[in-house]
Amino acid sequence: MTLKARAQEKVERAGIANYSFDQDVLVMCGVRYAIEACECGEPDCDGVRLRKKSAFPRILQ
Ligand SMILES: [Zn+2]
Repeated sequence: MTLKARAQEKVERAGIANYSFDQDVLVMCGVRYAIEACECGEPDCDGVRLRKKSAFPRILQ
């Protein structure tokens, strides 16, 4: 299973229907999340981690 598919599963399991993908970036409520593999090894870990990306380039903040 691809990371993207896992991320999609995770989001749907959380009951979030309002999301989309932009290439390999997950977009929820206008917020972009990088999809990363998680290797924490926790038994209940689904192997995927979403990292919030800045909405704007840092230089504009
Ligand atoms: Zn993990």
